[in-house]
Amino acid sequence: MKELRGKAVADAHKAALAKKLEALATKQVVITLGILLVGDDKAAHMYAHFMEKTARTMGFAVDRRDLPAMATQAEVEAVIREWNAADTIYGVLPLMPMPAQIDSEYIVDLLSPDKDLDGLTTQSIGRVIRGKRGFWPCTPRACIAILDHYDIPVAGKEVVVVGRSQVVGKPVALMLLDRNATVTICHSRTADLAAKLKQADIVIAAVGKAHVIDGTMIKPGAVVIDVGINELDGHTVGDVNYASLDGIASAATPVPGGVGSVTTTILLEGLCEAYYARNVDC
Ligand code: NDP
Repeated sequence: MKELRGKAVADAHKAALAKKLEALATKQVVITLGILLVGDDKAAHMYAHFMEKTARTMGFAVDRRDLPAMATQAEVEAVIREWNAADTIYGVLPLMPMPAQIDSEYIVDLLSPDKDLDGLTTQSIGRVIRGKRGFWPCTPRACIAILDHYDIPVAGKEVVVVGRSQVVGKPVALMLLDRNATVTICHSRTADLAAKLKQADIVIAAVGKAHVIDGTMIKPGAVVIDVGINELDGHTVGDVNYASLDGIASAATPVPGGVGSVTTTILLEGLCEAYYARNVDC
């Protein structure tokens, strides 16, 4: 079974992005990412730190705002409104979760879809579904980037997506549909998941439950993309029991080291795309 490592995909995308950024740097172009953090959520802080470091390393500028846990709705809205209007800001990441007093759905939808790098807003998803310019969420984009990088064709294939969340399951299913796959979406109420999976040439697992899928459910030769990140006996594992796929699947992403390694690069690629979208002369 071939291991579809995310790092190789991320490295290839990073190299292409670095070339674009190099060309822009000669024109003194500065592309700034806005990172908004509200409150003390540990995971959000770690992610903000990681994103800021990665973005700066690639050559982007970062405007990071840390608002206290007691911040008001008006204060959070003010940052988004400021960034929506700011010419220097090309992309915005409002990190979740926000404290309970903040209506984070409202905050997300306030964000300009032109700067919505993770495809969070209602407008963004409406745009991309209608084939207009906009951002799909980064994790589904990472799944597609992996399939593309390893030359795995999707047109005409039977794809089963397990999970129907707004951020992963639904958008990845629609992206694959756009690429002419025949897509089945499964979820917690699917009557016979194993029977559906047995039909799939490609499986995308986005469930959030450790090892809910194993090799016995997979069609021989299928490709498995595992989005899940779960803890099991002190280890990070996917939704799919990777070891059980050996000798059955033709290729699969490991967890960790698969989809998760690609999403950050995809997000920064979007930041560069946002720049080009606004500066068509470049
Ligand atoms: P959600 O909890 O929002 O959605 C999970 C989906 O799985 C739901 O649609 C649910 O069905 C379905 N589901 C739950 N149990 C079963 C089951 N036994 N059989 C079939 N379907 C089931 O999760 P997310 O989409 O946000 O995330 C999914 C996983 O991906 C998580 O592990 C998360 O950590 C990971 N993730 C990884 C990212 C990365 O970069 N690698 C980024 C984002 C997420 P129903 O709708 O009926 O409840």
